[in-house]
Amino acid sequence: MSRSYSRRDFLRLGATGGTIAALGLAGFPTLSLARSQLDARIAVVGGGSAGATVARYLKEHAPNLRITLIEPNETYYTCYAGNWYLGGFRDLDTLGHGYDNLRERHGIEVIHDRAEELDLAGRRVMTRNHTPIQYDRLVVAPGIDFDWDRVEGLDREGTEQIPHAWQGGRPFRILREQLEAMDDGGTVIVCPPESPYRCPPGPYERMALIAHYLKSHKPRAKVLGLDPKDSFSKQTLFKQGWEELYGDMIEWVPASAGGAPERLSVADRRVFTDGGDQMHQGDVINFIPPQQAGAIAHRAGLVDDTGWCPVDQETFRSKRHEDVYIIGDAAIAGDMPKSAHSANNQGKLVAATLVGELTGEPSPGFPTVNTCYSLVAPDWAFTIAAVFEHRDGRIREVEGSGGLSPEDEGKEFRQVEAIYAPGWYESITRDMFG
Ligand code: FAD
Repeated sequence: MSRSYSRRDFLRLGATGGTIAALGLAGFPTLSLARSQLDARIAVVGGGSAGATVARYLKEHAPNLRITLIEPNETYYTCYAGNWYLGGFRDLDTLGHGYDNLRERHGIEVIHDRAEELDLAGRRVMTRNHTPIQYDRLVVAPGIDFDWDRVEGLDREGTEQIPHAWQGGRPFRILREQLEAMDDGGTVIVCPPESPYRCPPGPYERMALIAHYLKSHKPRAKVLGLDPKDSFSKQTLFKQGWEELYGDMIEWVPASAGGAPERLSVADRRVFTDGGDQMHQGDVINFIPPQQAGAIAHRAGLVDDTGWCPVDQETFRSKRHEDVYIIGDAAIAGDMPKSAHSANNQGKLVAATLVGELTGEPSPGFPTVNTCYSLVAPDWAFTIAAVFEHRDGRIREVEGSGGLSPEDEGKEFRQVEAIYAPGWYESITRDMFG
């Protein structure tokens, strides 16, 4: 039988830890003999939001498990709050998280290397610079990769001139520098991707926060959104905020009004829409490419013809290989959006499930939750929240759970939600990397 949670319950429980614990997912039962003796080898590929969480929580459930986390970067830069950096009110350095706590506090072996190949039959991860890593169970959490072939003129080499800023760190810095260098009166073109993609409200928050920066530094500039879609997440709330705070500085052109980008000329910063007939000249272009599961999942044969990884949505076990679990953006997870909050919850769920499978003890399983703050300015935010259950073979939103910030609230309400947003960031990153 499904339980139902109202938006009020959800908010009362708090955004992350409180909610999860109260919903039963991360409550730690007393360590049983079976758990304390469990010393299986688990390899985790990808030390981002999903991978760091699962590694940490596996250790919480069964401290003698031998966990190896494989991640090329010594510092993980979150994409979340990256738009705050573009808006000029958060330092990029504060978005970086290292792996010392996972190593020293939680006893996880962290290897900074790239997984090149997964030998699923031999249960080994082959990396660039280390000897093969043998495992009993594998968790794959490589996030996203881009599909460069779907838009003419778009390619990996063009990203220095036209940064996507849809993976953390350097691409955000390039975009920010371009915004700073742009003349007043210039046009910033933002091209959101087709669905599915990571962080559905992200491009629209970006349009707002770029406008926030421009409003005080280059007030004659403009933000033009050219979209292959006709609608987007939290649309009414975004449009209200755009209009109230930035007037006609932001223009959004949906696909049905000829906004879908058909072709791109990186060298002269032009985007062609409307069957290629309409040319838009940008001074800065932020083209967010179409997305798919991280490359290693493709190379290992873990994706289907959508480009994403099919999993049993109750356990996140791969439908392609039974010793493998796939979590985070790379997985097809029913109604759960591709978000850091989802990735964190999936990491906790798989940690509990996997330990349960290895010990034969029951694991708590669902529900899981997602919440996502969007800022239109540093003091103007709204949220979407939901609780998810596994029902009829699929992850579905619990009817009546969560919801959106009310549309008829004013400045004060938006200000309060903007105060909560950094708290969400601090608590969820501490839960992953703390
Ligand atoms: P990632 O966090 O990207 O981690 C994947 C990791 O795998 C990376 O560290 C990568 O280096 C590693 N990797 C890849 N290939 C290999 C390999 N072959 N070998 C070893 N390691 C590998 N979510 C929210 O919940 N709230 C928000 O407010 C929010 N805002 C966002 C704003 C923006 C602008 C963007 C772009 C995203 C936002 N998100 C937000 C979404 C969030 O960033 C992602 O959904 C989340 O990071 C997904 O986690 P993941 O672990 O699947 O992928």
